[in-house]
Amino acid sequence: MKHVLLVEDEAALVTVLEDRLRAEGFEVTATGSGDEGEQLARGGVFDLVVLDWMLPGRSGLEICRNLRAAGANVPILMLTARGELADRVSGLRVGADDYLTKPFEMAELLARIEALLRRAPGAPPLAPLSFADVRIDPAAGEVQRGDARVDLSGRELELLVYMVRHAGEVLSREQLLSDVWDYARPPRTRTVDVHVALLRRKLEADPRRPRHFRTVHGIGYRFVP
Ligand code: CA
Repeated sequence: MKHVLLVEDEAALVTVLEDRLRAEGFEVTATGSGDEGEQLARGGVFDLVVLDWMLPGRSGLEICRNLRAAGANVPILMLTARGELADRVSGLRVGADDYLTKPFEMAELLARIEALLRRAPGAPPLAPLSFADVRIDPAAGEVQRGDARVDLSGRELELLVYMVRHAGEVLSREQLLSDVWDYARPPRTRTVDVHVALLRRKLEADPRRPRHFRTVHGIGYRFVP
């Protein structure tokens, strides 16, 4: 039986998550305290940690950084609230393996948990991604094209990683806005177009005839490796 550590201070959410994870056959230990969560995670008995970003006392980000610094390689799935989307890249940089934005569907959480558990133990967090002559290191926040380093803003990097990880799927502007952008200050759908144009300019051989970042007319975009 896989043992999941749930570090979350929102009692109602903990109840729902615990019930569902147990129903799916997981053993679950929950704590609302960041300090206790870190202590428990350091113990090394857990197969996966679901870690809320906003915790009283110690933040999820700090816990994640401490655990990685201490050599813990347990998979960590961070939970972020909408207003914190801009910081997700920092979460990945300090060693989280994946993140999920609140509110989320339970099915999505289970799918992410299963994907993380399938990865070989000790696998590096967020393996590098690549297409054509472009190489992306999400954990380090670095993108190389050929031998040259490509400078991307945090949002551009987040959009790039999202599109590459959803290669082949049609991604509507609304989906990209909700999954990549901060809804606290609702951007216009044009924002997506502007950012895709920037990625094309930086990563396509001919930005006016994009091979990778394709337009799906009337809907949005599709990334083709
Ligand atoms: Ca919280």
